[in-house]
Amino acid sequence: MTEEKPQAIIIGGGLAGLSAACELADHGYKVILAERRSSLSGRAYSFADPQGQGEVDNGQHVFLKCCTYYIRFLQRLGVWDKTRLQKRLRVTVIDPRAGASTLEGSSLPAPFHLLPSFLRFRHLSPLDKVRAAYAMLSILFTDRTKNSNLDSISFYRWLKDHGQTEAAIDRFWNLIGLATLNDNVRKVSADLAMMVFQEGFLKRANGANVGYAAVGLTSLVGTEARRYIEERGGRVLLGQKTEDLLLEEERIAGVRLADGSVLRGEWYVCAVPHQMLLAVIPPDLRADPFFGRASKLTTSSIVNIHLWYDRPVMDLDFAAFINSEAQWVFNKSKMWDLADDGQYLDISLSGARHYIDLSNEEIIERFTRELRKLFPKARRAQIERCLVVKQPQATFAPVPGSSKYRLPCRTPIENLFLAGDWTATGWPATMEGAVRSGLACAREILRLAPRSVQKGGRQETIETPTETCLGGNLHLSSVRSKA
Ligand SMILES: Cc1cc2nc3c(=O)[nH]c(=O)nc-3n(C[C@H](O)[C@H](O)[C@H](O)COP(=O)(O)OP(=O)(O)OC[C@H]3O[C@@H](n4cnc5c(N)ncnc54)[C@H](O)[C@@H]3O)c2cc1C
Repeated sequence: MTEEKPQAIIIGGGLAGLSAACELADHGYKVILAERRSSLSGRAYSFADPQGQGEVDNGQHVFLKCCTYYIRFLQRLGVWDKTRLQKRLRVTVIDPRAGASTLEGSSLPAPFHLLPSFLRFRHLSPLDKVRAAYAMLSILFTDRTKNSNLDSISFYRWLKDHGQTEAAIDRFWNLIGLATLNDNVRKVSADLAMMVFQEGFLKRANGANVGYAAVGLTSLVGTEARRYIEERGGRVLLGQKTEDLLLEEERIAGVRLADGSVLRGEWYVCAVPHQMLLAVIPPDLRADPFFGRASKLTTSSIVNIHLWYDRPVMDLDFAAFINSEAQWVFNKSKMWDLADDGQYLDISLSGARHYIDLSNEEIIERFTRELRKLFPKARRAQIERCLVVKQPQATFAPVPGSSKYRLPCRTPIENLFLAGDWTATGWPATMEGAVRSGLACAREILRLAPRSVQKGGRQETIETPTETCLGGNLHLSSVRSKA
């Protein structure tokens, strides 16, 4: 007799909800995922180009090779071949006044792999390089688990305490910190920033190799994640906003959807952004200090400016800029292999709160002028069209002290779990953090309710994983490097 599958209900179809759903579905759970929007993939999404033929991402998303759980999630869905990952880190850094210089990996082992290019890096003085090397080694040898003070100070303060000059902070530390943490190093927690440098740049020689999707973000994940869940007996409900969770006898008893229907299951994973958590949890729990902590997290903005030129103006796949407002520019034509005479560029601005209130016209005027300064070929080129995508609440702000507001996956309600890039993953707000958080919830459910599942016609007992937050447990061996 076939055993009835236990039901898991997931609220939110971003990467966190999807990774929880796929893991549970793989282990014999009947999953129902309810997403309020009409498509999956959450904040990492693309939409049909309103004037063109293809897709536009809400914003350029990159991942690093140290994002092993995100990479394995893509491999699990069978979409890894729709991404590109550098074999060796190579980032060109352009200063409109001083020219270009490249940070790249070498055959030396970590933490020395960047040293040859760092010595050639023209944007830092020799003395700043010596000081930066000293700070890098201090980061490498810092045991963050034993230094709880690090989350209460800014990375800027830590850098100043370790001899870094303003020039080195702007031209080196912030170049990496702003893009990976989504805020200026003057505003971010030293702990989270050090985590990025340890995982990406110091522990392994290939940790910071840059990867990106070669297709639109919704195309990358949305369709295949849905297929994956449905093939395993699950259901995906799109356009179904969760109004609230129903509490009965200190357990979640159901999910009330906007159309009035109620979904009932044994386990519930709430994978919505932190700003939406309190609206969804049962009214009786909203005053609970545990859940209330999430509302203390603040947000940081991202703005992307999409420009379609009538001819190529940039030769590189992407580049970072110092002494320029442009931050990072991505050559989407090259990254997506678009066959076109023109060129599609995406300027990605992190920590972009001061651009949110500017009009789109003003932003476009400002940045097209900037690109004419940065790329001589842009001076003769025509811009055929442009699009500004503002995400005022793109991610939680990784300010000092934010870690105490990031909630664990387990809650005081036994059958309710929390997932999302904002939960206590130990990572900044990233796709990697989101995937890890979903897996942590799924594995916690599997640990609490181990069961036998039918796989390929034979009875298989699920091992109960011991890890719950997945922190520091990287499996690089399963990650293939691609050109
Ligand atoms: C412009 C931009 C650029 C970024 N760049 C990068 C990058 O380069 N690299 C990187 O790693 N990360 C990047 N990020 C961050 C990354 O996108 C997020 O960390 C990740 O997508 C978060 O996933 P999530 O599942 O935690 O949350 P979300 O993606 O926000 O998913 C939550 C889902 O819940 C749904 N939902 C909310 N309320 C309800 C409700 N009541 N009922 C039902 N559904 C609900 C939402 O519609 C959403 O689909 C970027 C983010 C933005 C916005």
